[in-house]
Amino acid sequence: MQFHLNGFRVGDPSIEPAFGTSQSAHMPDTVDVLIVGSGPAGLVLAAQLSQFPSINTRIVERRDGPLLMGQADGVACRTVEMFHAFGLSERLLKEAYWVNDTVFWRPDANDREAISRAGRVQDTETGLSEFPHVIVNQARIQEYLLDVMRRSARRLEPDYGMEVVDIQRDDSHEYPVRVALRRSDPTRFDEVAVRARYVVGCDGARSRVRAAIGQTLRGDTANHAWGVMDVLAVTDFPDIRLKAAIQSASNGNLLVIPREGGYLVRLYVDLGEVTAENRDRIRQITADRSIATAQRILRPYSLDVKEVAWFSVYEVGQRLADRFDDAVAADGTAREPRVFIAGDACHTHSAKAGQGMNVSMQDGFNLGWKLGAVLEGRSDVNLLRTYSDERQPIAQELIDFDKEWSAMMAAPPKDPARTEASGVDPAELQAYFVRAGRYTAGIATRYRPGILTGEATHQALAKGFSIGTRFHSSPVIRFADAKPMHLGHVAQADGRWRLYAFSDANRSMLHALCEHLATSAESVLRLVTPEGADVDSVLDLRAVLQQPHREVNLKDLPTLLLPRKGRYGLTDYEKAFTSDASIDIFNEREVDRERGALVVVRPDQYVAHVLPLDAYAQLTGFFRPIFRMQ
Ligand SMILES: Cc1cc2nc3c(=O)[nH]c(=O)nc-3n(C[C@H](O)[C@H](O)[C@H](O)COP(=O)(O)OP(=O)(O)OC[C@H]3O[C@@H](n4cnc5c(N)ncnc54)[C@H](O)[C@@H]3O)c2cc1C
Repeated sequence: MQFHLNGFRVGDPSIEPAFGTSQSAHMPDTVDVLIVGSGPAGLVLAAQLSQFPSINTRIVERRDGPLLMGQADGVACRTVEMFHAFGLSERLLKEAYWVNDTVFWRPDANDREAISRAGRVQDTETGLSEFPHVIVNQARIQEYLLDVMRRSARRLEPDYGMEVVDIQRDDSHEYPVRVALRRSDPTRFDEVAVRARYVVGCDGARSRVRAAIGQTLRGDTANHAWGVMDVLAVTDFPDIRLKAAIQSASNGNLLVIPREGGYLVRLYVDLGEVTAENRDRIRQITADRSIATAQRILRPYSLDVKEVAWFSVYEVGQRLADRFDDAVAADGTAREPRVFIAGDACHTHSAKAGQGMNVSMQDGFNLGWKLGAVLEGRSDVNLLRTYSDERQPIAQELIDFDKEWSAMMAAPPKDPARTEASGVDPAELQAYFVRAGRYTAGIATRYRPGILTGEATHQALAKGFSIGTRFHSSPVIRFADAKPMHLGHVAQADGRWRLYAFSDANRSMLHALCEHLATSAESVLRLVTPEGADVDSVLDLRAVLQQPHREVNLKDLPTLLLPRKGRYGLTDYEKAFTSDASIDIFNEREVDRERGALVVVRPDQYVAHVLPLDAYAQLTGFFRPIFRMQ
């Protein structure tokens, strides 16, 4: 973490100096971005936008305060990577339960009314991410994000107790979206209206914003239901502190998710498909009945529930909207997108694969930096079209995966004595779980070639940084202070792009690249950096050398890797890295040692391009449709 750049400051360095006056208690007449809903999608978006002090963001929430308990709890490895960029991973990792192993239980071969353990696997493939898969309550995740907002220069806080009731668009107005809001408590206030340049509906599965832009969720006709409870219990079930998928012969399926703090556990009791005939009965299922079902499934083990902290019958189907914005008008004509939807407002997933909260947060991360770039005048509005173009197909893929996965999980176990009977062989379920690991870890996302994702022409230069997928970090040594760290951890959620220049063998191409970027009239760095701003304010160049750090001299670094910044022109010593002797990043990520590679990474940590170090024109050309160049 770097601070004191513009002068010494006392106190907690993670609290930004306040920008202007604090957020007014009343809704202003106009805002740049109005976010509707403070669930995971809305709060990631708000946390990201709060990093842009010049952007006036407000977030309205129907609830009268922050979420305190319940809802989702699985945090995929990819989400922890994103949290690191927000400065939240240490806190999350300290508090959360780490899912290291997953176990599978099935009816015992000798007594099918009892269960026995069928298998145990490592939850996440080694090397998939430097971070684990963790479990912590959604309320805590939201609290971390609220904390980022409070520490930001805008000191952004949600406006609780306010709900959106209507949205109208009028393109003749500078703030084209008019939003009617109502206090959830009608005794306190009447309707107010706010005009916004952009509105983002993060308002959950029953989204009003989605309805206002004429979108609907399509997909499953029926919902699937689970009795979900967070309990404190005494049990002799030996795997209570492991994630456990349990299939019983005749009492249904149970998912055991150990929770943060060492004692709490979440139980998902599968209640099956919701039909017109069983809807009322399922909705009336109580915590006691769900506990009784769990007790039957767990036989011969006992489960004595001492306290139910949270219980809900959670019903959800796998559904998806066609578009995540209003870029196509009702008459079919194309227009600038002004209203977006994110998270459950545009896709819903079963609770089994733990996608809902994670995918929703990635939507917010994808859209946030794009809105920041457009509102700060660095990019053209076309950038905003990529949000729906990128995220809708990803949501479709995840729903396809989720359908297969939850069908497997919901199926009865095959009885080995009755080969003609249907059902899933638990060994097959376990093998599928291992294969599906990339999806559940959130690592399977791959953006297709487009303005933000280059063609794989030069992929061979850095095979381990696959274009379109998230930047897969690896250890390095920070050169100036010999600090061992992860290269990917230099990326903060600050809207900047990263250019990682992996040096060629004799560093001549690296030096030439730095010279070009620093001095050429065609340098993309010079073309996108505003007059007077720090050289890394838009594109943050970092270099990785092949030589051991003790064999490199500071004076051998190109001056661009020791940039002078801030009001005093202080030197930034954190741009150059060398490979770690024990885990060499060039080997780990298959980077061409002779020629090196330039890996271009988006603000949301996805690899946008891999280019030769001397492909200057291609580099500038890649960024032309993305940035307004000077
Ligand atoms: C009751 C419930 C239980 C759940 N249980 C589980 C579970 O057990 N396991 C699991 O994996 N997932 C569960 N989920 C799903 C998971 O929580 C979501 O996938 C995830 O929260 C999606 O995040 P989101 O931000 O898109 O939407 P949400 O978290 O739904 O957030 C939407 C927010 O918008 C607010 N809002 C809605 N309408 C308006 C309006 N008109 N004006 C202002 N604010 C509005 C809501 O109050 C809410 O805070 C549950 C969801 C709910 C609602």
